[in-house]
Amino acid sequence: MQNELLLEVAQQFGSPVYVYDAEKIISQYQRLTNAFAKVEKLRINYAVKALSNISVLKLLKQEGSCLDTVSIQEVQLGLKAGFEPKNIIFTPNGVSLEEIEEVAALGVQINIDNLSILEQFGHKHPNIPVCIRINPHVMAGGNANISVGHIDSKFGISVHQLPLLLRIVENTKMRINGIHMHTGSDILDIEVFLYAAEILFDTALKFKNLEFLDFGSGFKVPYKPDDIETNIEELGEKLTERFNEFQKQYGKKLTLAFEPGKYLVSEAGYFLTKVNVVKQTTSTVFAGVDSGFNHLIRPMFYNSYHHIENISNPEGKPRFYSVVGYICETDTFATNRRISEIKEGDILSFKNAGAYCFSMASNYNSRFKPAEVMIYKGEIHLIRERETMDDILRNQIEIKL
Ligand SMILES: *Cc1c(COP(=O)(O)O)cnc(C)c1O
Repeated sequence: MQNELLLEVAQQFGSPVYVYDAEKIISQYQRLTNAFAKVEKLRINYAVKALSNISVLKLLKQEGSCLDTVSIQEVQLGLKAGFEPKNIIFTPNGVSLEEIEEVAALGVQINIDNLSILEQFGHKHPNIPVCIRINPHVMAGGNANISVGHIDSKFGISVHQLPLLLRIVENTKMRINGIHMHTGSDILDIEVFLYAAEILFDTALKFKNLEFLDFGSGFKVPYKPDDIETNIEELGEKLTERFNEFQKQYGKKLTLAFEPGKYLVSEAGYFLTKVNVVKQTTSTVFAGVDSGFNHLIRPMFYNSYHHIENISNPEGKPRFYSVVGYICETDTFATNRRISEIKEGDILSFKNAGAYCFSMASNYNSRFKPAEVMIYKGEIHLIRERETMDDILRNQIEIKL
């Protein structure tokens, strides 16, 4: 995205502000669907939790996407954005039976990830088809990838519990229409992913009424300049071939589903902050910005990297800075980063700010959540207003003292 456009957004709507490039979201969606073009029935369920602005949901709907949701509120947002219930899948972890029943009553596809709820749901609603989340316990060698797939993960029903699972299905006479796995984040090793897929295929053969197989997500996107990413084209080629082979063995055409979050929106997002103060200490030069982990928590929460550029002075001489927020706790966005010379008042742009950034923002320190802007067909569209004091006070009740 051009710096001039970003600067114009900052000027028009102030800072901090999130900016999303609709074109990038669309091109990522198309790259993914192109990689799997040889799959007859492909379904992309965008993971709403990554970025849930209703305009983003509508954009993805226009491209043909379906939704992956983890709360009834996300389901309701999806319905509000115009998605049909049948185009939404509900993949919660540890939510109540009541919430699952409520979502099922809306006509949304349910995905259950534990035997206790599966049994209760099956007894009460044997006629509602259910997808089951399997944990294939695949570990990606020495790295921490695929980190929700390990043996003591809270996610999914262990493949080792398949006999018990089958007994529950038989006893309740419930119908299993899909098998799902979501092995975690930042997949780089395609062979490991394919190995997990084999476990899913083996499991699928045990169920006769399947309509789809859902391979979850976890595609890695680049964060640094020259960073590596999941080779989606190679994955597409290899998994498609194996999937088509599996369909023959299964004796029926199935839908192949994915539920990407950050793959679709991470790189489309820019977070713009203004430098309030440049502070030289004995050892470090700090650039203090008008935001903090209340607005973008990923660096502090999971040590993630966001590339930072000074778009007010892109050609300036590079110097080393630690970029910090204004929260009264350790609030470091970046340490010792080479950034072109920063002056107070400059606008810093954080990259990869589309996924798990605004959606994790809070009102900590009683600050307003930032505005959100979408660049669509070259035009600037405000898609969420910056909060005001009314938002901070909403729902608060003053008692008489
Ligand atoms: C969060 C989540 C996703 C999306 O993961 P990304 O790494 O953002 O692609 C997909 N499926 C489930 C079940 C999730 O919880």
